Amino acid sequence: MAATRQQIQKELDSLLEPQRFRDYCPNGLQVEGRSEINLVVSGVTASLALIEAAIAAEADMVLVHHGYFWKGEPQEVVGMKKRRLALLLENDINLFAYHLPLDAHPELGNNAQLGKMLGFEQERCIGRPGETALVAIGQAAGKLSHAGMLELLAEKLQRQALGIQGSTDAIERVAWCTGAAQNYIDLAVEAGVDAFITGEISEQTFHVAKETGLHFFSAGHHATERYGVQAVGEYLADKFSLSHRFIDIDNPV
Ligand SMILES: [Zn+2]
Repeated sequence: MAATRQQIQKELDSLLEPQRFRDYCPNGLQVEGRSEINLVVSGVTASLALIEAAIAAEADMVLVHHGYFWKGEPQEVVGMKKRRLALLLENDINLFAYHLPLDAHPELGNNAQLGKMLGFEQERCIGRPGETALVAIGQAAGKLSHAGMLELLAEKLQRQALGIQGSTDAIERVAWCTGAAQNYIDLAVEAGVDAFITGEISEQTFHVAKETGLHFFSAGHHATERYGVQAVGEYLADKFSLSHRFIDIDNPV
C-alpha cells in the first residue's frame, strides 16, 4: 500500500497541530520529495548519516524531531547544509520534521512515550507563562532510590544517565522533559517533586539540584527523544498500511 505526500502531510498536521506552537523551526514538510510514499524512515535528527541510511533503505520520506532551518542559523545553503539538502533532493526524498509538536503530543509525543516507558503516571504539564507547557509532572511506579532510578534509566534507555543525588531517600513524585530541558529545573523545584529527569545538564544545574535537594538525572538528549518519532512512524504505518523503520544514528549526547 502507499499514500501520497499530501495525505501524509494532512494527517501529520491534524495529528500534531503545529499551528498551536510558537517554535524555532518550521514544522511539517521541510523538503519536498516524490509524491508516492511506501517506506517511512524515522530518526531523531536529519543528519547526513540518517539521510544516507534512509537512501540505503530506499525510503520515500524521512520523519525527524530535529529538522532544518532553525531560527537564527545562517540562511545560506553552503557546506554541511548544502550536502544534506543536495542528498535529499538528488534522491527525491521528503523530509518531515516536527519539533515542539512532537515533544508535546499527549500520547505519541516524546514526553508521553518516555513517561510510559519509565512507568510514570502523568498528571499534568507545566511551563513558563506564554510558552508551551512541556514539563510533565506525575508519579513514579512505586518508590525508587537514587540508584534505583539510575538503574531504571539504564535499563530502559540502554545508556548510563548522570545523576545528582537529592535530599529525599525515596523518589515518588517526578518531573520529566525530553531533550535539553535542564533550564526548566526551577519549574520542577516549584512543583515540589522529588526528581527531575531530562536529556542534558549544564554546569549550574548541579548547584541548583544540590541547593534545592532535587534529585536530577541527565539521561541523554538523543536517548530521551528516540520515542516520539517511532510512535508517529508506527501511527502512519498503521493508518496507511505503509512500511516504517526507525533508524537509530547513535549519539552519546
Ligand atoms: Zn531535541
